[in-house]
Amino acid sequence: MTRGRLAPSPTGAQHLGNARTHLVAYWSTRHVGGELALRIDDLDSPRVKTWAIDQAIEDLRWLGIDWDSTIAKQTDHREHYQVAIDQLHQSNLIYPCYCSRKDIEEVISAPHETRFRGELPPYPKICAGYRYGDTIDDREHCFRFRARDEIIEFDDQMLGRQACNPAFELGDFPVVSRSGDASYQLAVLIDDQLQGVDQVVRGNDLVASTFRQMDIAKRLGIPSPTYAHVPLIRGLDGRRLAKRHGDTRLGYYRERGVRPETIVGWAAFTLGLIDTPEDCKASELTSHFDWSCLPTDDLCIDPQSLFDAG
Ligand code: GLU
Repeated sequence: MTRGRLAPSPTGAQHLGNARTHLVAYWSTRHVGGELALRIDDLDSPRVKTWAIDQAIEDLRWLGIDWDSTIAKQTDHREHYQVAIDQLHQSNLIYPCYCSRKDIEEVISAPHETRFRGELPPYPKICAGYRYGDTIDDREHCFRFRARDEIIEFDDQMLGRQACNPAFELGDFPVVSRSGDASYQLAVLIDDQLQGVDQVVRGNDLVASTFRQMDIAKRLGIPSPTYAHVPLIRGLDGRRLAKRHGDTRLGYYRERGVRPETIVGWAAFTLGLIDTPEDCKASELTSHFDWSCLPTDDLCIDPQSLFDAG
């Protein structure tokens, strides 16, 4: 049975773009009779806001999304991350890195140039000669994963065949942050494994991360889930939805009396699942879900002109 997941990050409020991605995860999983796990991605302290955890759960419920089993939190998975870190270090696949951003920028000739899907140029391997356990001095350090010099490929449900050489295009990346916590790349891989997730639906800004996560997964012998990277919502200026575009928090619409069905209908319409933007309950649209209707391009909107209070 398919098992999908919802993985909100409580670093701020859930907004329209998050809502659309959550709805795709919900519909695509329920459409095939699958189960859905909810996990709170709360590892990214100090950016995590405690209020945003409860609010993300309330926002999902308000949208009419339901999930199976108890809610998991990354901060409850730390011992599992440590097992993976130990396994990686025993195979000399991670090393301590003492570089600051400035150290790295001084070595890279064009530090602000972006490469693979907007990623920064690969880390120039300044510390790659170190091994786990080497203590250079008492400066803070992260641990980087030695990216594989080999093409990794996968079939994305939305984007088709994707390929990348992680060593060449992305470079070595942190799997343990300076705070000592597992980084996002390692954590989500272990979380999904622990929660039995075999279908990951998330924003198309995470394609490069998928190659990193598949690279670690191969080394740890963990099977990778299937992936669907869905289009993002942007402002009319083409930039990622942010405060500059006005308030797009689900809580803001709720306070203004906008009905959740209006937002669900808008999401379904902009995803090509219904012909007109009419109010709908999330559960009513499960049977309408069809991957082949979904657009692959990001959607540019003026959020201020979108919804009237009901
Ligand atoms: N927590 C991430 C987010 O809200 C998603 C992580 C993932 O899909 O791997 O963007």
